[in-house]
Amino acid sequence: MKQLTIAGNWKMHTMPSDAVALCEAIVHHSSTANALSQGHAVVLAPPLTSLAGVVASCMGTGVEVAAQDCHAASSGAYTGDVSAAMVAALGATCVIVGHSERRRYHGETDVMIGEKAAAAARCGLVPIICVGELLQDRQSGNTNTILQAQIEGILHGLGQQPLTRAYLAYEPVWAIGTGVAATPNQAEETHHFLRTILDDGQGALRGVPILYGGSVTDKNAEELFSCQSIDGALVGGASLVAETFVAIIQAAIRVGAQAA
Ligand code: PEP
Repeated sequence: MKQLTIAGNWKMHTMPSDAVALCEAIVHHSSTANALSQGHAVVLAPPLTSLAGVVASCMGTGVEVAAQDCHAASSGAYTGDVSAAMVAALGATCVIVGHSERRRYHGETDVMIGEKAAAAARCGLVPIICVGELLQDRQSGNTNTILQAQIEGILHGLGQQPLTRAYLAYEPVWAIGTGVAATPNQAEETHHFLRTILDDGQGALRGVPILYGGSVTDKNAEELFSCQSIDGALVGGASLVAETFVAIIQAAIRVGAQAA
């Protein structure tokens, strides 16, 4: 049976009380429990200010909680940042690193992202490592070259740090928040390329599940999940409405059942 991961990235949305209400509506839905019982994974990534509340609401449900970023250092003079250990101490089990918005607005590089993933792993967190090309890269036929360079930089940043568990999220920048998702063919082709380069050799990312992110909705999730090389989704906008996010979870259940 195909086991999928559905992760919701709430970005800088939801005040703490809204976050807990959204979380409760998702975790107490019967489809979420069904998905988890069938081996699918559900991850919620609220803003840091809501992390503890969401962790408390998810306690005992099997739904995992992710932070949206962490610093690579264990402590230090980094005003406004949080370490992986701080995230883990709040009860999160995962952390997103290298989201394109962090790359764009905070100047994060591939090596820094690899270092963050290593810091996360050292603290027992599962890193969800994002890569993706810009529109001009895709239009000029450079998608694979860009992705390969991103992976190489991330592996360099990871160094010798083993990853017990991790995800790669392929998020074409032109698809994030635009309403224009990659077509299933585009996504499958790129995931297949990523699968090949990750599994070629002994790199730390060998075998990691690859999530697709970029305008995933309840309308396109089933078709994307049906692609052979797609192991789930990192969902932004559509994860902010419980009904829509649950509908994406239901799509995963259907695809899992078909592939059984
Ligand atoms: C994201 O921010 O990770 C994302 C995929 O956003 P959206 O689903 O809104 O495109």
